[in-house]
Amino acid sequence: MRKVTILGATGSIGQNTIDLIRRDAGAYDVVALTGGANIARLAADARALGADIAVTAHEDRLDDLRDALAGSGVEAAAGAKAIREAAARPADWVMSAIVGAAGLAPGLAALEQGATLALANKETLVCAGALVLDTARRHGARLLPVDSEHSAVFQALVGEDMDSVERIIITASGGAFRDWPLERLRHATVAEASAHPNWDMGQRITIDSASMFNKALELIETREYFGIDPDRIEVLVHPESLVHALVGFRDGALMAHVGAPDMRHAIGYALHWPERRDLPVARLDLAQVGQLNFRAPDDARYPALRLARQVLARGGLMGAAFNAAKERALDHFIAGRIGFLDMAEVVEEVLARMEARSGLIDAAMTLDNVLETDHLARAGADDVVAERAG
Ligand code: NAD
Ligand code: MG
Repeated sequence: MRKVTILGATGSIGQNTIDLIRRDAGAYDVVALTGGANIARLAADARALGADIAVTAHEDRLDDLRDALAGSGVEAAAGAKAIREAAARPADWVMSAIVGAAGLAPGLAALEQGATLALANKETLVCAGALVLDTARRHGARLLPVDSEHSAVFQALVGEDMDSVERIIITASGGAFRDWPLERLRHATVAEASAHPNWDMGQRITIDSASMFNKALELIETREYFGIDPDRIEVLVHPESLVHALVGFRDGALMAHVGAPDMRHAIGYALHWPERRDLPVARLDLAQVGQLNFRAPDDARYPALRLARQVLARGGLMGAAFNAAKERALDHFIAGRIGFLDMAEVVEEVLARMEARSGLIDAAMTLDNVLETDHLARAGADDVVAERAG
């Protein structure tokens, strides 16, 4: 039996992971499930899967979790430290599906115990790519991509040599507002930004898809995971979300990964790697699809992509600053304090202020320095939003 842990089990990726595991429950020994405020979901899944421990991120919900698990034999715990400890429990395979930089420390803990880390949490590589890859190397742990574009690239590279790769193209649906006139974007509401045309995902990544901040993070994730020069990574708008990524080789060949927009494919690939097993995803009928469309992203519409290129050129701890500023700008947008287009302006201003703090961005990439940068960038975003309001 394979020992598995799911971090962020109650979210969209977590639930899709549980769906796959439940279909073959006898093959898995579930060590830990972690979640947030949805105690009922967390407890029900921990009971059904016979987990050793369930952990909520909210310390004040520990009693609720204990009550919900009464008589089940599943241990209950709460708080960020308890999540890290759960991730450090021996497991063969750990799904990293917490949203945001909160996923970084538990992911590192899983790598330190030598687990294979299936990485949905792209923020991990954006904030601390070099540290994460180095931790995996030192502990003989493996990192497998779960983001659909990165899983697609990873699959297109099987049997290939990175030296023969000329470019990597990641596709973007363009999100909820891809066909809106630019003037209208300023007034886009949270509800409008939370409806994705093709994918069913958590609210935060859905809004990030509309603003293209999701693709901005993925540009950095591509650079970190595959070690390719940023100027050889392209973003292509593809409204159907059926081609997830393409790899261009030196002989001119372009290998595309095509499939239905269902995250259980990428999750299942990482779960069964290096084998391929049957997965419950729709089979595409291309004759019925008929057409696939592609277009270049519009720079005026998507400033997030320009910012990501700046972050890549700058290096150091700028990825951690970028992600944290984006997370806070998104919090402020969701809370109704800033508009949709203000998010990129806030992030850009925070990056300029972080750059001006001497030595900060060039400090060594340790977990402490990454978390400190994250903290300062969040405070910086709060300052910028407060200044704009006042
Ligand atoms: P979600 O919001 O649906 O779920 C997030 C999970 O993290 C929940 O279990 C929640 O309880 C937990 N969580 C939230 N804040 C936490 C905190 N501070 N500490 C500990 N746990 C916390 O998100 P999602 O859509 O499943 O996305 C999860 C990750 O996977 C994100 O990094 C996202 O970018 C990435 N991803 C998601 C998809 C998708 O289809 N949903 C696709 C590619 C990548
Ligand atoms: Mg993606």
